[in-house]
Amino acid sequence: MRNISSYDLVVVGTGFASSFFLYKLHKENKLPKKVLVLERGQIISNGHKRNEIREGKRNSGINYRESNQSIVNKNPDKPWIFDPNFGGSSNCWTGCTPRFMPNDFQLKTKYGRGLDWPLTYDELEPYYGEAENVMAISGPEATPFPKSTKYPLKPHALTTFDTLLAKRYNELYISQPTARASEKIGNRNPCCSSSVCDLCPVEAKFTIGNGLKYLYDLESVELQTGAEVRSLQVEGGNVKGVEYRLKGKDYVVTSDLVVLGANAIFNANILLNSGDSNPFVGKGLTEQFGLYGYFYLSGLENVGGSSIITANGYMLYDTNERSNYGACLIESHNGPYVRGEVGKWRQIAKYKFIFEDIPDDKNRVLINTDNPYKPIVHFEGPSKYVLDAKENLSKNVDQVFSGLPIEKYVLDTHFQKTEYHICSSTRMSDNEKNGVVQKNLFHHGYNNLIVLGSSVFPAISPSNPTLTLSALSLMAADKL
Ligand SMILES: Cc1cc2nc3c(=O)[nH]c(=O)nc-3n(C[C@H](O)[C@H](O)[C@H](O)COP(=O)(O)OP(=O)(O)OC[C@H]3O[C@@H](n4cnc5c(N)ncnc54)[C@H](O)[C@@H]3O)c2cc1C
Ligand code: SF4
Repeated sequence: MRNISSYDLVVVGTGFASSFFLYKLHKENKLPKKVLVLERGQIISNGHKRNEIREGKRNSGINYRESNQSIVNKNPDKPWIFDPNFGGSSNCWTGCTPRFMPNDFQLKTKYGRGLDWPLTYDELEPYYGEAENVMAISGPEATPFPKSTKYPLKPHALTTFDTLLAKRYNELYISQPTARASEKIGNRNPCCSSSVCDLCPVEAKFTIGNGLKYLYDLESVELQTGAEVRSLQVEGGNVKGVEYRLKGKDYVVTSDLVVLGANAIFNANILLNSGDSNPFVGKGLTEQFGLYGYFYLSGLENVGGSSIITANGYMLYDTNERSNYGACLIESHNGPYVRGEVGKWRQIAKYKFIFEDIPDDKNRVLINTDNPYKPIVHFEGPSKYVLDAKENLSKNVDQVFSGLPIEKYVLDTHFQKTEYHICSSTRMSDNEKNGVVQKNLFHHGYNNLIVLGSSVFPAISPSNPTLTLSALSLMAADKL
Protein backbone atom coordinates (compact mmCIF):
# COMPACT_ATOMS: atom_id res chain seq x y z
CA MET A 1 0.00 0.00 0.00
CA ARG A 2 1.42 3.39 -1.00
CA ASN A 3 1.34 6.41 1.28
CA ILE A 4 0.86 9.32 -1.07
CA SER A 5 0.43 12.37 1.03
CA SER A 6 -1.17 14.04 3.98
CA TYR A 7 -4.09 16.49 3.84
CA ASP A 8 -5.93 18.91 6.10
CA LEU A 9 -9.26 17.43 5.06
CA VAL A 10 -10.29 14.27 3.20
CA VAL A 11 -13.90 14.05 2.00
CA VAL A 12 -15.47 10.84 0.70
CA GLY A 13 -18.13 11.25 -2.03
CA THR A 14 -19.39 14.22 -4.05
CA GLY A 15 -23.18 14.06 -3.48
CA PHE A 16 -25.35 16.53 -1.56
CA ALA A 17 -23.86 15.53 1.80
CA SER A 18 -20.23 16.24 0.88
CA SER A 19 -20.88 19.16 -1.46
CA PHE A 20 -23.01 21.20 0.98
CA PHE A 21 -20.34 20.66 3.64
CA LEU A 22 -17.62 21.96 1.30
CA TYR A 23 -19.90 24.82 0.18
CA LYS A 24 -20.29 26.11 3.74
CA LEU A 25 -16.58 25.82 4.57
CA HIS A 26 -15.76 27.72 1.38
CA LYS A 27 -18.42 30.37 1.99
CA GLU A 28 -17.18 31.00 5.54
CA ASN A 29 -13.52 31.10 4.41
CA LYS A 30 -12.87 27.99 6.50
CA LEU A 31 -11.81 25.69 3.68
CA PRO A 32 -8.33 24.41 4.58
CA LYS A 33 -5.42 24.66 2.14
CA LYS A 34 -5.11 20.97 1.28
CA VAL A 35 -8.39 19.17 0.64
CA LEU A 36 -8.68 15.78 -1.07
CA VAL A 37 -12.05 14.53 -2.30
CA LEU A 38 -12.24 10.82 -3.10
CA GLU A 39 -15.08 9.89 -5.47
CA ARG A 40 -15.62 6.32 -6.52
CA GLY A 41 -17.43 7.20 -9.78
CA GLN A 42 -16.75 9.42 -12.76
CA ILE A 43 -18.03 12.80 -13.93
CA ILE A 44 -20.99 11.90 -16.14
CA SER A 45 -23.04 14.59 -17.84
CA ASN A 46 -26.65 14.33 -18.93
CA GLY A 47 -25.33 14.21 -22.49
CA HIS A 48 -23.36 11.06 -21.73
CA LYS A 49 -26.42 9.43 -20.24
CA ARG A 50 -28.61 10.27 -23.21
CA ASN A 51 -26.01 8.80 -25.56
CA GLU A 52 -25.89 5.62 -23.56
CA ILE A 53 -29.66 5.32 -23.65
CA ARG A 54 -29.73 5.93 -27.40
CA GLU A 55 -27.13 3.21 -27.85
CA GLY A 56 -29.25 0.84 -25.77
CA LYS A 57 -26.68 0.51 -22.99
CA ARG A 58 -29.25 1.55 -20.42
CA ASN A 59 -32.98 1.74 -20.52
CA SER A 60 -33.11 4.36 -17.83
CA GLY A 61 -31.08 7.32 -16.66
CA ILE A 62 -31.24 5.79 -13.19
CA ASN A 63 -28.30 3.57 -12.41
CA TYR A 64 -30.26 0.50 -11.35
CA ARG A 65 -27.58 -1.70 -12.82
CA GLU A 66 -24.71 0.05 -11.08
CA SER A 67 -26.57 0.23 -7.75
CA ASN A 68 -27.31 -3.48 -7.86
CA GLN A 69 -23.75 -4.39 -8.74
CA SER A 70 -22.41 -2.48 -5.74
CA ILE A 71 -24.29 -4.41 -3.03
CA VAL A 72 -25.48 -7.91 -2.17
CA ASN A 73 -29.19 -7.37 -1.70
CA LYS A 74 -30.72 -10.13 0.41
CA ASN A 75 -34.22 -8.96 -0.46
CA PRO A 76 -34.47 -8.39 -4.24
CA ASP A 77 -38.10 -7.22 -3.79
CA LYS A 78 -36.68 -4.13 -2.11
CA PRO A 79 -34.19 -2.37 -4.39
CA TRP A 80 -31.85 0.34 -3.08
CA ILE A 81 -31.16 2.80 -5.88
CA PHE A 82 -28.42 5.42 -6.04
CA ASP A 83 -26.06 6.91 -8.59
CA PRO A 84 -22.45 6.03 -7.74
CA ASN A 85 -20.88 8.84 -9.77
CA PHE A 86 -19.78 12.45 -9.36
CA GLY A 87 -22.73 14.35 -7.83
CA GLY A 88 -24.23 11.11 -6.47
CA SER A 89 -27.99 10.76 -6.84
CA SER A 90 -28.39 14.48 -7.55
CA ASN A 91 -27.94 13.29 -11.16
CA CYS A 92 -31.14 11.27 -11.10
CA TRP A 93 -33.21 12.71 -8.24
CA THR A 94 -36.65 14.25 -8.79
CA GLY A 95 -35.98 17.40 -6.77
CA CYS A 96 -38.82 17.31 -4.21
CA THR A 97 -37.60 19.37 -1.24
CA PRO A 98 -40.07 19.69 1.63
CA ARG A 99 -38.64 20.48 5.05
CA PHE A 100 -39.30 18.02 7.84
CA MET A 101 -42.01 19.09 10.29
CA PRO A 102 -40.92 20.13 13.83
CA ASN A 103 -42.50 17.01 15.39
CA ASP A 104 -40.50 14.74 13.03
CA PHE A 105 -37.56 15.50 15.32
CA GLN A 106 -39.53 14.48 18.44
CA LEU A 107 -41.38 11.35 17.44
CA LYS A 108 -40.76 9.60 20.75
CA THR A 109 -41.64 12.56 22.97
CA LYS A 110 -44.75 13.57 21.05
CA TYR A 111 -46.10 10.18 19.94
CA GLY A 112 -44.25 7.55 21.99
CA ARG A 113 -42.90 5.91 18.82
CA GLY A 114 -39.38 5.40 17.42
CA LEU A 115 -36.62 7.78 18.49
CA ASP A 116 -36.19 11.52 19.03
CA TRP A 117 -33.43 13.38 17.25
CA PRO A 118 -30.95 15.02 19.67
CA LEU A 119 -31.56 18.14 17.55
CA THR A 120 -34.62 20.36 17.21
CA TYR A 121 -36.27 21.86 14.14
CA ASP A 122 -35.42 25.35 15.45
CA GLU A 123 -31.71 24.53 15.57
CA LEU A 124 -31.77 23.39 11.94
CA GLU A 125 -34.09 26.14 10.69
CA PRO A 126 -31.44 28.68 9.53
CA TYR A 127 -29.63 25.96 7.59
CA TYR A 128 -32.87 24.89 5.89
CA GLY A 129 -33.21 28.46 4.58
CA GLU A 130 -29.61 28.46 3.37
CA ALA A 131 -29.96 25.08 1.61
CA GLU A 132 -33.14 26.35 -0.08
CA ASN A 133 -31.23 29.36 -1.38
CA VAL A 134 -28.35 27.28 -2.71
CA MET A 135 -30.76 24.97 -4.56
CA ALA A 136 -33.02 27.91 -5.60
CA ILE A 137 -36.16 26.20 -4.40
CA SER A 138 -39.55 27.11 -5.86
CA GLY A 139 -42.17 27.21 -3.13
CA PRO A 140 -45.21 28.96 -1.64
CA GLU A 141 -45.60 31.77 0.90
CA ALA A 142 -47.46 29.77 3.55
CA THR A 143 -46.19 26.39 4.75
CA PRO A 144 -47.18 23.99 7.54
CA PHE A 145 -43.61 24.19 8.93
CA PRO A 146 -42.31 27.49 10.36
CA LYS A 147 -40.00 29.40 8.04
CA SER A 148 -37.94 32.52 8.69
CA THR A 149 -36.98 32.99 5.01
CA LYS A 150 -38.91 33.08 1.73
CA TYR A 151 -38.41 30.56 -1.02
CA PRO A 152 -36.15 32.12 -3.66
CA LEU A 153 -38.39 31.21 -6.64
CA LYS A 154 -42.15 31.58 -7.11
CA PRO A 155 -44.29 28.48 -6.48
CA HIS A 156 -45.22 26.11 -9.29
CA ALA A 157 -48.80 26.45 -10.54
CA LEU A 158 -51.33 24.04 -9.05
CA THR A 159 -53.73 21.95 -11.13
CA THR A 160 -57.45 22.72 -11.12
CA PHE A 161 -58.12 19.84 -8.70
CA ASP A 162 -55.23 20.94 -6.44
CA THR A 163 -56.85 24.36 -6.25
CA LEU A 164 -59.97 22.88 -4.66
CA LEU A 165 -57.90 21.14 -1.98
CA ALA A 166 -55.74 24.22 -1.37
CA LYS A 167 -58.90 26.28 -0.77
CA ARG A 168 -60.16 23.76 1.74
CA TYR A 169 -56.93 22.99 3.59
CA ASN A 170 -54.95 26.27 3.33
CA GLU A 171 -51.33 25.73 4.41
CA LEU A 172 -51.91 21.99 4.81
CA TYR A 173 -52.13 21.73 1.01
CA ILE A 174 -49.38 23.68 -0.74
CA SER A 175 -47.55 23.99 -4.03
CA GLN A 176 -44.72 21.50 -3.59
CA PRO A 177 -41.41 23.06 -2.51
CA THR A 178 -39.05 21.79 -5.21
CA ALA A 179 -35.62 22.11 -6.79
CA ARG A 180 -37.33 21.88 -10.22
CA ALA A 181 -37.15 25.56 -11.16
CA SER A 182 -40.41 27.44 -11.77
CA GLU A 183 -38.56 30.16 -13.69
CA LYS A 184 -35.18 30.52 -15.37
CA ILE A 185 -32.34 30.96 -12.90
CA GLY A 186 -28.68 31.03 -13.95
CA ASN A 187 -27.94 28.02 -16.11
CA ARG A 188 -31.26 26.33 -15.18
CA ASN A 189 -34.47 26.58 -17.21
CA PRO A 190 -38.07 26.33 -16.01
CA CYS A 191 -39.42 22.82 -15.50
CA CYS A 192 -41.47 21.72 -18.52
CA SER A 193 -43.12 18.80 -16.71
CA SER A 194 -41.70 16.20 -19.10
CA SER A 195 -41.44 13.67 -16.29
CA VAL A 196 -38.00 12.23 -17.02
CA CYS A 197 -36.24 13.91 -14.13
CA ASP A 198 -33.51 11.32 -13.97
CA LEU A 199 -32.26 12.93 -17.20
CA CYS A 200 -33.86 16.40 -17.03
CA PRO A 201 -33.69 17.49 -20.67
CA VAL A 202 -33.85 21.22 -19.88
CA GLU A 203 -31.57 21.35 -16.82
CA ALA A 204 -34.44 22.54 -14.62
CA LYS A 205 -33.62 20.72 -11.43
CA PHE A 206 -30.69 21.55 -9.16
CA THR A 207 -27.83 19.07 -9.34
CA ILE A 208 -24.36 19.16 -7.87
CA GLY A 209 -23.17 19.36 -11.49
CA ASN A 210 -25.09 22.55 -12.32
CA GLY A 211 -24.92 24.18 -8.87
CA LEU A 212 -21.80 23.29 -6.90
CA LYS A 213 -19.29 21.80 -9.30
CA TYR A 214 -17.10 24.92 -9.01
CA LEU A 215 -16.11 23.76 -5.51
CA TYR A 216 -14.19 20.88 -7.04
CA ASP A 217 -12.26 23.25 -9.31
CA LEU A 218 -10.95 25.38 -6.42
CA GLU A 219 -7.20 25.50 -6.08
CA SER A 220 -7.23 24.03 -2.59
CA VAL A 221 -9.46 21.10 -3.60
CA GLU A 222 -8.07 18.02 -5.34
CA LEU A 223 -10.78 15.75 -6.77
CA GLN A 224 -9.77 12.16 -7.39
CA THR A 225 -12.41 10.26 -9.36
CA GLY A 226 -12.38 6.46 -9.70
CA ALA A 227 -11.12 6.26 -6.08
CA GLU A 228 -13.09 3.80 -3.97
CA VAL A 229 -12.61 4.34 -0.25
CA ARG A 230 -12.42 0.96 1.42
CA SER A 231 -11.71 1.59 5.08
CA LEU A 232 -10.25 3.95 7.64
CA GLN A 233 -7.15 3.21 9.70
CA VAL A 234 -8.18 3.97 13.26
CA GLU A 235 -6.05 4.18 16.37
CA GLY A 236 -7.40 5.06 19.77
CA GLY A 237 -9.95 7.78 19.25
CA ASN A 238 -8.61 9.01 15.91
CA VAL A 239 -8.68 8.23 12.21
CA LYS A 240 -5.04 7.95 11.15
CA GLY A 241 -5.47 7.10 7.48
CA VAL A 242 -7.98 6.67 4.66
CA GLU A 243 -7.46 3.61 2.46
CA TYR A 244 -8.69 3.64 -1.11
CA ARG A 245 -8.29 1.76 -4.36
CA LEU A 246 -7.60 3.54 -7.65
CA LYS A 247 -7.05 1.72 -10.96
CA GLY A 248 -6.35 -1.58 -9.19
CA LYS A 249 -3.80 -0.14 -6.75
CA ASP A 250 -4.23 0.52 -3.04
CA TYR A 251 -3.34 3.83 -1.44
CA VAL A 252 -3.50 5.39 2.00
CA VAL A 253 -3.60 9.09 2.84
CA THR A 254 -3.54 10.81 6.19
CA SER A 255 -5.65 13.78 7.18
CA ASP A 256 -6.42 16.01 10.15
CA LEU A 257 -10.16 15.69 9.49
CA VAL A 258 -12.05 12.97 7.60
CA VAL A 259 -15.62 13.36 6.32
CA LEU A 260 -17.80 10.49 5.09
CA GLY A 261 -20.54 11.43 2.59
CA ALA A 262 -20.92 8.09 0.86
CA ASN A 263 -24.67 7.51 1.60
CA ALA A 264 -26.40 5.33 4.16
CA ILE A 265 -25.16 2.04 2.72
CA PHE A 266 -21.53 2.98 2.12
CA ASN A 267 -20.97 5.19 5.18
CA ALA A 268 -21.87 2.12 7.22
CA ASN A 269 -19.84 -0.21 4.99
CA ILE A 270 -16.68 1.90 5.34
CA LEU A 271 -17.09 2.11 9.14
CA LEU A 272 -17.73 -1.63 9.45
CA ASN A 273 -14.64 -2.38 7.33
CA SER A 274 -12.64 -0.09 9.62
CA GLY A 275 -13.44 -2.22 12.69
CA ASP A 276 -15.72 0.41 14.24
CA SER A 277 -16.93 -1.17 17.47
CA ASN A 278 -19.99 1.04 17.89
CA PRO A 279 -22.81 -1.55 18.04
CA PHE A 280 -25.24 0.63 16.06
CA VAL A 281 -23.18 0.93 12.87
CA GLY A 282 -25.19 -0.46 9.95
CA LYS A 283 -28.37 -0.89 12.00
CA GLY A 284 -31.78 0.62 11.25
CA LEU A 285 -31.49 0.95 7.47
CA THR A 286 -34.85 2.10 6.17
CA GLU A 287 -36.85 4.40 3.91
CA GLN A 288 -40.42 5.56 3.31
CA PHE A 289 -43.12 3.46 1.62
CA GLY A 290 -45.49 4.93 -0.96
CA LEU A 291 -48.48 3.89 -3.02
CA TYR A 292 -50.51 5.58 -5.76
CA GLY A 293 -54.21 6.46 -5.78
CA TYR A 294 -56.26 7.38 -8.87
CA PHE A 295 -59.23 9.74 -8.51
CA TYR A 296 -61.83 9.72 -11.31
CA LEU A 297 -63.32 13.21 -11.38
CA SER A 298 -66.90 14.10 -12.25
CA GLY A 299 -66.93 16.84 -14.87
CA LEU A 300 -63.69 18.55 -13.74
CA GLU A 301 -60.80 18.80 -16.24
CA ASN A 302 -57.65 18.45 -14.13
CA VAL A 303 -55.19 20.73 -15.92
CA GLY A 304 -52.83 23.64 -15.37
CA GLY A 305 -50.00 22.32 -13.16
CA SER A 306 -46.50 23.52 -14.07
CA SER A 307 -44.41 20.62 -12.76
CA ILE A 308 -44.62 16.85 -12.53
CA ILE A 309 -45.48 16.88 -8.84
CA THR A 310 -47.54 19.95 -8.12
CA ALA A 311 -48.61 19.83 -4.49
CA ASN A 312 -47.91 18.37 -1.05
CA GLY A 313 -50.78 17.58 1.32
CA TYR A 314 -50.22 17.41 5.08
CA MET A 315 -53.75 16.41 6.12
CA LEU A 316 -52.64 12.91 7.23
CA TYR A 317 -49.20 13.90 8.47
CA ASP A 318 -48.90 15.30 11.96
CA THR A 319 -52.16 14.01 13.42
CA ASN A 320 -52.83 12.28 16.74
CA GLU A 321 -52.97 8.98 14.84
CA ARG A 322 -49.19 9.14 14.60
CA SER A 323 -48.99 7.33 17.93
CA ASN A 324 -50.85 4.45 16.25
CA TYR A 325 -49.49 4.43 12.70
CA GLY A 326 -47.09 6.24 10.39
CA ALA A 327 -47.59 9.81 9.17
CA CYS A 328 -48.43 10.24 5.49
CA LEU A 329 -47.29 12.91 3.03
CA ILE A 330 -49.67 13.27 0.07
CA GLU A 331 -48.08 14.17 -3.29
CA SER A 332 -50.17 15.35 -6.25
CA HIS A 333 -48.67 13.78 -9.41
CA ASN A 334 -49.04 15.60 -12.69
CA GLY A 335 -47.02 13.45 -15.10
CA PRO A 336 -48.45 12.53 -18.49
CA TYR A 337 -51.39 10.17 -17.89
CA VAL A 338 -55.01 10.15 -19.03
CA ARG A 339 -58.29 8.52 -18.12
CA GLY A 340 -59.17 5.87 -20.73
CA GLU A 341 -62.65 7.22 -21.51
CA VAL A 342 -63.54 9.35 -24.52
CA GLY A 343 -64.40 12.93 -23.50
CA LYS A 344 -62.96 12.43 -20.00
CA TRP A 345 -59.24 12.16 -20.77
CA ARG A 346 -58.20 14.75 -18.17
CA GLN A 347 -60.93 14.07 -15.61
CA ILE A 348 -58.51 12.25 -13.35
CA ALA A 349 -56.11 13.11 -10.53
CA LYS A 350 -53.21 10.95 -9.39
CA TYR A 351 -51.79 11.01 -5.87
CA LYS A 352 -48.97 9.28 -4.08
CA PHE A 353 -49.40 8.52 -0.38
CA ILE A 354 -45.99 8.26 1.29
CA PHE A 355 -45.64 6.83 4.80
CA GLU A 356 -42.83 7.11 7.34
CA ASP A 357 -41.29 3.94 8.71
CA ILE A 358 -39.53 3.49 12.04
CA PRO A 359 -35.93 2.27 11.73
CA ASP A 360 -35.61 -1.31 12.99
CA ASP A 361 -32.20 -2.65 14.04
CA LYS A 362 -32.79 -5.99 12.32
CA ASN A 363 -32.71 -4.18 8.95
CA ARG A 364 -29.08 -3.46 8.36
CA VAL A 365 -25.89 -3.19 6.37
CA LEU A 366 -23.55 -6.11 7.09
CA ILE A 367 -19.93 -6.94 6.25
CA ASN A 368 -19.59 -9.29 3.28
CA THR A 369 -16.69 -11.57 4.19
CA ASP A 370 -16.37 -12.75 0.56
CA ASN A 371 -16.03 -9.16 -0.71
CA PRO A 372 -15.92 -6.55 2.08
CA TYR A 373 -16.40 -3.68 -0.39
CA LYS A 374 -19.70 -5.03 -1.66
CA PRO A 375 -21.84 -4.82 1.49
CA ILE A 376 -24.72 -7.13 2.31
CA VAL A 377 -28.03 -5.30 2.69
CA HIS A 378 -30.58 -7.12 4.82
CA PHE A 379 -34.11 -5.66 4.86
CA GLU A 380 -37.08 -7.66 6.07
CA GLY A 381 -39.86 -5.33 4.93
CA PRO A 382 -42.06 -2.50 6.15
CA SER A 383 -42.87 -2.38 9.85
CA LYS A 384 -46.33 -2.76 11.39
CA TYR A 385 -46.30 1.04 11.85
CA VAL A 386 -46.35 1.44 8.05
CA LEU A 387 -48.67 -1.48 7.37
CA ASP A 388 -51.22 -0.08 9.84
CA ALA A 389 -51.03 3.31 8.09
CA LYS A 390 -51.78 1.56 4.79
CA GLU A 391 -54.65 -0.35 6.41
CA ASN A 392 -56.25 2.92 7.53
CA LEU A 393 -55.65 4.77 4.27
CA SER A 394 -58.99 4.33 2.50
CA LYS A 395 -60.89 5.43 5.63
CA ASN A 396 -58.68 8.53 5.80
CA VAL A 397 -58.96 9.21 2.07
CA ASP A 398 -62.77 9.10 2.35
CA GLN A 399 -62.56 11.88 4.93
CA VAL A 400 -59.89 14.03 3.30
CA PHE A 401 -61.42 13.99 -0.18
CA SER A 402 -65.10 14.04 0.88
CA GLY A 403 -67.42 16.48 -0.89
CA LEU A 404 -65.09 16.96 -3.88
CA PRO A 405 -66.18 16.20 -7.49
CA ILE A 406 -64.98 12.57 -7.47
CA GLU A 407 -66.87 9.66 -9.10
CA LYS A 408 -64.68 7.00 -7.56
CA TYR A 409 -61.10 6.39 -6.50
CA VAL A 410 -58.81 3.37 -6.68
CA LEU A 411 -55.82 2.84 -4.38
CA ASP A 412 -52.93 0.56 -5.33
CA THR A 413 -52.86 -2.56 -3.21
CA HIS A 414 -49.05 -2.71 -3.13
CA PHE A 415 -46.38 -0.23 -2.13
CA GLN A 416 -43.96 0.98 -4.78
CA LYS A 417 -40.75 -1.03 -4.45
CA THR A 418 -38.75 2.04 -3.50
CA GLU A 419 -39.02 5.76 -2.75
CA TYR A 420 -35.27 6.04 -3.56
CA HIS A 421 -34.47 7.35 -0.06
CA ILE A 422 -31.80 5.42 1.84
CA CYS A 423 -31.70 6.36 5.53
CA SER A 424 -30.60 5.57 9.06
CA SER A 425 -27.59 3.26 9.31
CA THR A 426 -25.37 5.51 11.50
CA ARG A 427 -27.96 7.21 13.69
CA MET A 428 -27.42 10.46 15.55
CA SER A 429 -27.77 10.33 19.35
CA ASP A 430 -26.90 12.28 22.45
CA ASN A 431 -24.40 9.64 23.60
CA GLU A 432 -22.56 6.59 22.30
CA LYS A 433 -24.78 4.19 24.26
CA ASN A 434 -27.63 4.84 21.80
CA GLY A 435 -26.12 5.89 18.50
CA VAL A 436 -23.13 6.48 16.25
CA VAL A 437 -22.75 10.24 15.75
CA GLN A 438 -23.21 13.35 17.89
CA LYS A 439 -25.58 16.13 16.95
CA ASN A 440 -22.68 18.04 15.33
CA LEU A 441 -22.20 14.86 13.21
CA PHE A 442 -18.81 13.97 14.69
CA HIS A 443 -18.55 10.24 15.33
CA HIS A 444 -18.94 9.45 19.05
CA GLY A 445 -15.80 7.29 18.97
CA TYR A 446 -13.38 9.25 16.77
CA ASN A 447 -12.30 12.85 17.36
CA ASN A 448 -11.57 13.70 13.72
CA LEU A 449 -14.36 11.89 11.84
CA ILE A 450 -17.62 13.47 10.62
CA VAL A 451 -20.41 11.36 9.11
CA LEU A 452 -22.86 13.16 6.79
CA GLY A 453 -26.08 12.29 4.96
CA SER A 454 -29.39 10.63 5.76
CA SER A 455 -27.53 7.73 7.40
CA VAL A 456 -27.60 9.87 10.56
CA PHE A 457 -31.43 10.22 10.73
CA PRO A 458 -32.76 8.60 13.95
CA ALA A 459 -36.34 8.96 12.60
CA ILE A 460 -37.12 9.55 8.93
CA SER A 461 -40.53 11.30 8.64
CA PRO A 462 -42.60 10.82 5.46
CA SER A 463 -40.85 13.79 3.81
CA ASN A 464 -38.12 13.50 1.20
CA PRO A 465 -34.72 13.51 2.95
CA THR A 466 -32.34 15.52 0.78
CA LEU A 467 -33.09 19.09 1.87
CA THR A 468 -32.73 17.97 5.50
CA LEU A 469 -29.45 16.13 4.95
CA SER A 470 -28.08 19.12 3.02
CA ALA A 471 -29.07 21.47 5.87
CA LEU A 472 -27.30 19.11 8.31
CA SER A 473 -24.11 19.33 6.22
CA LEU A 474 -24.28 23.14 6.34
CA MET A 475 -24.75 22.98 10.10
CA ALA A 476 -21.86 20.54 10.61
CA ALA A 477 -19.50 22.78 8.61
CA ASP A 478 -20.73 25.89 10.43
CA LYS A 479 -20.11 24.35 13.88
CA LEU A 480 -16.53 23.29 13.07
C1 LIG B 1 -34.38 8.29 -8.78
C2 LIG B 1 -34.20 9.05 -7.50
C3 LIG B 1 -35.07 10.10 -7.20
C4 LIG B 1 -34.92 10.80 -6.00
N1 LIG B 1 -35.74 11.86 -5.75
C5 LIG B 1 -35.60 12.55 -4.61
C6 LIG B 1 -36.43 13.67 -4.32
O1 LIG B 1 -37.27 14.07 -5.13
N2 LIG B 1 -36.26 14.32 -3.14
C7 LIG B 1 -35.33 13.92 -2.22
O2 LIG B 1 -35.24 14.53 -1.15
N3 LIG B 1 -34.53 12.87 -2.47
C8 LIG B 1 -34.64 12.18 -3.64
N4 LIG B 1 -33.81 11.12 -3.89
C9 LIG B 1 -32.81 10.76 -2.88
C10 LIG B 1 -31.58 11.66 -3.00
O3 LIG B 1 -31.05 11.55 -4.27
C11 LIG B 1 -30.58 11.27 -1.91
O4 LIG B 1 -31.18 11.52 -0.64
C12 LIG B 1 -29.30 12.07 -1.98
O5 LIG B 1 -28.72 11.99 -3.25
C13 LIG B 1 -28.31 11.58 -0.94
O6 LIG B 1 -27.17 12.38 -1.01
P1 LIG B 1 -25.79 11.87 -0.42
O7 LIG B 1 -24.76 12.84 -0.82
O8 LIG B 1 -25.93 11.54 1.02
O9 LIG B 1 -25.55 10.44 -1.13
P2 LIG B 1 -25.35 10.10 -2.68
O10 LIG B 1 -26.12 10.99 -3.53
O11 LIG B 1 -25.60 8.62 -2.78
O12 LIG B 1 -23.81 10.39 -2.91
C14 LIG B 1 -22.82 9.55 -2.35
C15 LIG B 1 -21.51 9.82 -3.07
O13 LIG B 1 -20.48 9.03 -2.49
C16 LIG B 1 -19.80 8.29 -3.49
N5 LIG B 1 -19.31 7.07 -2.84
C17 LIG B 1 -20.06 6.08 -2.30
N6 LIG B 1 -19.26 5.14 -1.77
C18 LIG B 1 -17.98 5.55 -1.98
C19 LIG B 1 -16.70 5.00 -1.67
N7 LIG B 1 -16.59 3.85 -1.03
N8 LIG B 1 -15.61 5.69 -2.05
C20 LIG B 1 -15.70 6.88 -2.71
N9 LIG B 1 -16.88 7.43 -3.04
C21 LIG B 1 -18.01 6.78 -2.66
C22 LIG B 1 -20.86 8.08 -4.56
O14 LIG B 1 -20.27 7.76 -5.81
C23 LIG B 1 -21.57 9.42 -4.55
O15 LIG B 1 -20.87 10.40 -5.27
C24 LIG B 1 -33.90 10.43 -5.08
C25 LIG B 1 -33.02 9.39 -5.40
C26 LIG B 1 -33.16 8.70 -6.60
C27 LIG B 1 -32.20 7.59 -6.89
S1 SF4 C 1 -40.26 17.40 -15.01
FE1 SF4 C 1 -38.94 17.58 -16.77
S2 SF4 C 1 -38.14 19.64 -16.74
FE2 SF4 C 1 -39.05 19.24 -14.77
S3 SF4 C 1 -37.30 18.61 -13.59
FE3 SF4 C 1 -38.27 16.77 -14.32
S4 SF4 C 1 -37.22 16.33 -16.21
FE4 SF4 C 1 -36.67 18.41 -15.65
